[in-house]
Amino acid sequence: MNKTPRKIRTVSLTTVGCKLNQSETDAIQNKFAENGYSVKPFGEDVDLTIINTCTVTNAADADSRAVIRLARRHAPQARIVVTGCYAQISPAAIEKIPGVDLILGNNEKYSIFDYLDHLENTKPNTPLVRVNNDVACNNDTNQGFIATTSRTRAFLKIQEGCDYFCSYCIVPFARGLPRSRSFKDTLAEAKKLASQGYQEIVLTGVNIGTYSFNEHKPLALTDLLDAMQSINGLKRIRISSLEPNTITTDLLKLMRDSTVICRHLHVPLQSACNKQLRAMNRKYLIEDYQRLLDQIVDILPGSALGTDIIVGFPGETDHDFETTLNFVHSAPFTYLHVFRYSKRDSTASSSLKDRVDPATAKKRSQTLIETGRMHKLGYLKKHMGSLLHVLFDQRKKDQYSGYSTNYIQVLVDSKTDIRKQIRSVRLIGINEKGVGLAELIDIG
Ligand code: SF4
Repeated sequence: MNKTPRKIRTVSLTTVGCKLNQSETDAIQNKFAENGYSVKPFGEDVDLTIINTCTVTNAADADSRAVIRLARRHAPQARIVVTGCYAQISPAAIEKIPGVDLILGNNEKYSIFDYLDHLENTKPNTPLVRVNNDVACNNDTNQGFIATTSRTRAFLKIQEGCDYFCSYCIVPFARGLPRSRSFKDTLAEAKKLASQGYQEIVLTGVNIGTYSFNEHKPLALTDLLDAMQSINGLKRIRISSLEPNTITTDLLKLMRDSTVICRHLHVPLQSACNKQLRAMNRKYLIEDYQRLLDQIVDILPGSALGTDIIVGFPGETDHDFETTLNFVHSAPFTYLHVFRYSKRDSTASSSLKDRVDPATAKKRSQTLIETGRMHKLGYLKKHMGSLLHVLFDQRKKDQYSGYSTNYIQVLVDSKTDIRKQIRSVRLIGINEKGVGLAELIDIG
C-alpha cells in the first residue's frame, strides 16, 4: 500500500530488548510529548511509529522484524522508523521489510526530529538509511534526552559502548567502543533533573563502571557519584549495573558513607564455573568474584545485591551447572535474572560446538529461577517488621507501589495520593507475587 504525505501529529513507540533500550525509547517519547505531539500506546492508529530494536540474539532479530510487521498492520498509513541495535547491525535486512520509511543507527536515533520534515513530505518507495558504521564516533550520548517514570525517577545515561567483548555479546559492535559523557554536562543535567523535582536518578549506560572523563584531571564513576550526592534536592542515586572488575573499594566506601547513593548493586556473574567464564571471555574468575562478594558484605551489609546468570552456554555440563547452582545458593544475592543462552551470529560463541540441548537449558533455567525466588523471599523475610524508606511512583486504585533504597518493592494502601513522595513504611507481609506488603508510618 502506498502512503500519502501526511502531517505528523500522533506518534507511538515500542521497544524490543533490554532496559537501556527501554529507557532510550522513553527518553525519545518524552521529547515528542514535550514538543507537543500526542503520544499513543503502540497498537493504535498513528501518524508515526518508532521501533527501537534489539539484536542481542538471533531470536531478538526475529522479534524485531515481527514487531516492524505488526506496526504496519496496526497503522498501515503511519510512517515507520526503525532504530536501535538491529538497525545498526542489519539495516539491509530491515530495508527489505515493506512499509519501513527510515532506518536510524544507534548514533542517529536522537536525531529523529531532523527527519520529520522528510517523513511528512515525501512519498517514499525505499527507506532512507542513516546508519553510521563508526558507532564509537559520538561522544555525547543523549544530550537532553531523559527517560523518566511518572516524573519521580529519571534515567540518566552517562556512558555508551563497551570493549569487553564477552564471547556471547554483540553489544560492542552494535553500540561501539566505550565513551563517557562529559562530567560537566552530566552534572548539569543531574542538577536540572533535581530542580525539576526528580527525587531519584538512576545512572545508566552499557558498562558504566568504565566511566572515565578527563576534565583537567581524570575523573571516574566515584568522582561523578561524589559530586552528584551533594546536588540540592536530589534524594537518591541508583547505579543500574556494574561489571565486577569495575567495582573498587573506594566505590563501596563511598556508598557506605553516603545518605544519597542507594545500597543496591547489580553485578553480573553469568557463571560460577571458571571453564565457562573463560569461554565467555569474562574478565574475572570465580575466586575474584567471591572476594568481591566478601567485600560487599563487609562494607555494605544488608544491601540489595542482584546478578545475571546465563544457563546453557555451549559446553556447560551438568557438573558446571551444579557449580553455578551451589555458588548461587550460598551467595548473598537478593534477586537473580536468569537467561537461557541463545545463539547470536557474528559473536565468538556462535561457532562454539558442544551445544546444550534446549530441554536441559530450560530445566537449568527453572532450577535457578526457583533459587532466585527463594533468595528474594529470604531477603524480604529478613526485613519483616523493619522500617523502610520508599519512593512511591505507581498507583492502582488505592494501592501504591514503590522501591526502598535497598530495592525492596512494596505495596501500601493509602487514601491520599503518595506518588512522588518518599515515605517511611513498615514491612508487614508478602503477597503471592513475592512483593512486600507494608503500612505507612508517620514519623513526626
Ligand atoms: S560487559 Fe560483556 S556482556 Fe556487557 S556489554 Fe560488554 S561485552 Fe556485552
